[in-house]
Amino acid sequence: MTPTSTSALQALDAAALDAADPLARFRDRFLEPEGDPVVAYLDGNSLGRPLAATAERLGEFTRGEWGQRLIRAWDERWMDEPVRLGDRLAEVVLGAAHGQTIVADSTSVMIYKLVRAALDAQSGAGRDEIVIDRENFPTDRFLVEGIAAERGATIRWISPDPDTGVRPADVEAVVGPRTAVVLLSHVAYRSGFIADAPAITQAVHRAGALVVWDLCHSAGSVQLELDAWGVDLAVGCTYKYLNGGPGSPAFGYVRRGLQDRLRQPLWGWMGAADPFGMTESYAPAAGIRQFITGTPPILAMQPLAGMVELIAEAGGMEAVRAKSVLLTEFAAALAARDLAAFGVELASPRDPAERGSHITLNHPRFREVTAMLWERGVIPDFRPPHGLRVGLSPLSTSFAEVEAGIAAIRDALAELA
Ligand SMILES: *Cc1c(COP(=O)(O)O)cnc(C)c1O
Repeated sequence: MTPTSTSALQALDAAALDAADPLARFRDRFLEPEGDPVVAYLDGNSLGRPLAATAERLGEFTRGEWGQRLIRAWDERWMDEPVRLGDRLAEVVLGAAHGQTIVADSTSVMIYKLVRAALDAQSGAGRDEIVIDRENFPTDRFLVEGIAAERGATIRWISPDPDTGVRPADVEAVVGPRTAVVLLSHVAYRSGFIADAPAITQAVHRAGALVVWDLCHSAGSVQLELDAWGVDLAVGCTYKYLNGGPGSPAFGYVRRGLQDRLRQPLWGWMGAADPFGMTESYAPAAGIRQFITGTPPILAMQPLAGMVELIAEAGGMEAVRAKSVLLTEFAAALAARDLAAFGVELASPRDPAERGSHITLNHPRFREVTAMLWERGVIPDFRPPHGLRVGLSPLSTSFAEVEAGIAAIRDALAELA
């Protein structure tokens, strides 16, 4: 934090924070809605805004690679796209070397593939337990329930504090000789808590198990060092802080040393050794390609490709994270000043080192408040039972927008009081 931004933060001065923000100029790269004005977009953690260049990029792609090159583009470029874009994402966002990341499938499908692959690889060693926490995102819990039912595995549940999240001691208490795989979210979708991924990864490894990190709320918001942390497997969305657009594909990371040991469960022709050999039976491709199943969603990867380059241009994840910390500090301080009198409570960690790029505020009337705000062009989201999430996407959100958002929450609560 520079001295200017520190004093601007203390003074809760949005204009001074925006003026001191080295990333402020990147806001213009995002599409400004025409007509119906958006006063404050505070939900970039659910669906990132489109880059203005995305509209052109999709048009160019349609006219060029697709329209002109037609089927030839598969040979010329598209076959390699899931790995090429995965590699670029790995170097700019994930802290990972090439050859370990693919872009494919939806997050849910990728979680299924990686958790099942990890479980199956361990079952020979008599390991039949999957560890997950009760605060994890529903799809993660449901997939684990389904995999356990399908494979006769046992689920070991961690019950963390809902206002924070899973800590290394919580993991150490449940892992053991029967643990096959542990699935955790790096940044909790509700509280925004950042789990200590390096320490937890080590604890899982000491127990002889594998870890799968869900990076949906971390990719593009916090710094990641998957290789340095010794992470086994990871998966994440690209439509949240990576602005890939609705339904954009997931990414999957498999540590190089594990790639030959694991066999993913959805054997499709695009992950086979010789896709166009039209062979009689399946043999997996070498390396990370074997984790692909069917035809990769090339069209839906285009917006993501643009966003990864924008992050690189902005100075990488260190710069993005620095702004994110200031944004959540500012939002939490405004909430303490203006909303506490209405009984609003912070349901996220107070220490910025322990939280990602959103904060959750609790109040019994936030369901109604959120509906009122959406009418007024202020767009956070609501998570039952009474959490209002303020998502702060660093490259597209200004401090003035945060100020307008918190003021609108205050006005709505005052009207309801
Ligand atoms: C957003 C999110 C998902 C979404 O999964 P989809 O298959 O893309 O719908 C999964 N897990 C977590 C932790 C998320 O935050």
